[in-house]
Amino acid sequence: MTKILAIANQKGGVGKTTTSVNLSAALAELGKKVLLVDTDPQGNATSGVGVDKNNVENSVYDMLVEDVNINKCVLETAVENLYIIPANIALAGAEIELVSAMSREVRLKYAFKELETDFDYIIIDCPPSLGLLTINSFTAANGIVIPVQCEYYALEGLSQLLNTIRLVQRHLNQSLEIEGVLLTMLDARTNLGNDVIAEVKDHFGEKVYDTIIPRNVRLSEAPSHGQPINVYDARSTGAKTYKSLAEEVVRHG
Ligand code: ADP
Ligand code: MG
Repeated sequence: MTKILAIANQKGGVGKTTTSVNLSAALAELGKKVLLVDTDPQGNATSGVGVDKNNVENSVYDMLVEDVNINKCVLETAVENLYIIPANIALAGAEIELVSAMSREVRLKYAFKELETDFDYIIIDCPPSLGLLTINSFTAANGIVIPVQCEYYALEGLSQLLNTIRLVQRHLNQSLEIEGVLLTMLDARTNLGNDVIAEVKDHFGEKVYDTIIPRNVRLSEAPSHGQPINVYDARSTGAKTYKSLAEEVVRHG
């Protein structure tokens, strides 16, 4: 069975795209067949795996809004076992165009049912909002991974996210669960990190991953080379920690 994980938090800059790209690549390195789905009009996950977002024939927009068959939207990447459905700025209009569309919340879920390839994992990079694109992801997913940046006010805004998750569970996807909460961008040089870790563990308990992603400059450089961290610098702390996250995700089953 395919495990479908949405990487979500309506706050921008918390590490959603970095986690989507590098968790996907680390799972692929473990021998899993992975489909990364970019649902952010910024298309950073797309360019992050080396695909030219302005030069794709079919994107997630064509799939969700124009009803193009999903199998025509899947692209290979340079990483073995890693495939992507790309996104670009065309998707910016989708939130509005979908409002009046039939089955507007379940389009992604239905598209996944038509996949002709058996993927072990589908990882969805969500946009920084709780609109219809994120709702489509939650409706299609088995689990949500919430990246939380280790900073003051880390938990701010999360009640809105949890509320949206509850609404989707009630009305659209009863089997949706919070898969895990991932602490990101921990700065080892400050004491602040430990306070935030304690606060987040207090709130989410067992859901918090043992793996914590540190701030690592190699992780911020890799996207401009169009490479996941395990290709760009396999020996970096960033690569090691995303590998350990992938192992945790596999162990959870
Ligand atoms: P989001 O998708 O939630 O908006 P991103 O993954 O794009 O967040 O991250 C925001 C910025 O922070 C990007 O420039 C990214 O390269 C950088 N970044 C993310 N995680 C790390 C990290 N662990 N260490 C250093 N820089 C990071
Ligand atoms: Mg992003």
